[in-house]
Amino acid sequence: MLSCRESIPEKKPEWAIAIHGGAGVITRSQLTPEKEALYRAVLQEALDTGAAVLQRGGSSLDAVEKTIRIMEDCPLFNAGKGAVFTHEGRNELDAAIMDGSNLAAGAVTCVTDIKNPITAARTVMTESPHVLLSGKGASEFAKEKGLEIVDPSYFYTEERYRQLREILDKEKHGTVGCVALDRKGNLAAGTSTGGMTDKRYNRIGDTPIIGAGTYANNSTCAVSATGHGEFFIRYTVAHDISALMEYRGLPLDSAARLVVKHKLVKAGGSGGVICVDGKGNISMPFNSEGMFRGYSTSEGKKGIFIYADEPDRLIK
Ligand code: ASP
Repeated sequence: MLSCRESIPEKKPEWAIAIHGGAGVITRSQLTPEKEALYRAVLQEALDTGAAVLQRGGSSLDAVEKTIRIMEDCPLFNAGKGAVFTHEGRNELDAAIMDGSNLAAGAVTCVTDIKNPITAARTVMTESPHVLLSGKGASEFAKEKGLEIVDPSYFYTEERYRQLREILDKEKHGTVGCVALDRKGNLAAGTSTGGMTDKRYNRIGDTPIIGAGTYANNSTCAVSATGHGEFFIRYTVAHDISALMEYRGLPLDSAARLVVKHKLVKAGGSGGVICVDGKGNISMPFNSEGMFRGYSTSEGKKGIFIYADEPDRLIK
């Protein structure tokens, strides 16, 4: 007979995926029903794309890259097309990806003409001996590897700019990210962003910094962050969550909450993270008013959420 303390273990999901589309001042009064529906539809499309990869036995890295590409191509988000503008009126993009199975990582920063920075990040990881390439060098590398290069004006369209300026300026967020656990038990994380509106001097945020905005390690978790990057760099947020699990033995959700809801709040750093562990637990805490987010698992548990009063975890 089972004692009270023993319970029949729940089957762990065979795969799990979570996404974010940025955190910030996102409230019901600021999103019209039309805009909200638009966001939900693209988040759903991105999530379904990644879930389909995992469902057919694809790798967490493929799921992360494909999911993020959907959001990079959508002007609603501050990544790829639709990225925010620098002080000088340009778009400078950052992205990173990490493979939790071997701690391989790749990232690009300050790129202005690579259509899908997340793919460039993955190519840096798999086809160069480096982790982080920047600016012109990153473009040269991407060209050599046959990635799609666009004129910098691709990221800017007058009409989109006018349509979106209001949203983006208000929210100043919209970074995209994805974390995934595949059927083989491998974790992966990726993040892509245009950075912070009005940034200057080739400012680099947390997104392409491994351990700050992006981190994955099969023995702990995969993390993708969004928020005020300077704080996420100084508090090495993504790695701190992993370290709390590794060294202090905290469960995923406790580790993520400790960092986002306590450490960052105390420091004044706004934003949030999405994380998944090897058991398929998902944690998505944020300390801002809202965060575009969603998850999906092999057991059919799924949802897209925006506001603070909606779910921010899926824990066994
Ligand atoms: N973390 C990004 C950066 O600081 C911005 C964001 O997530 O909104 O570049």
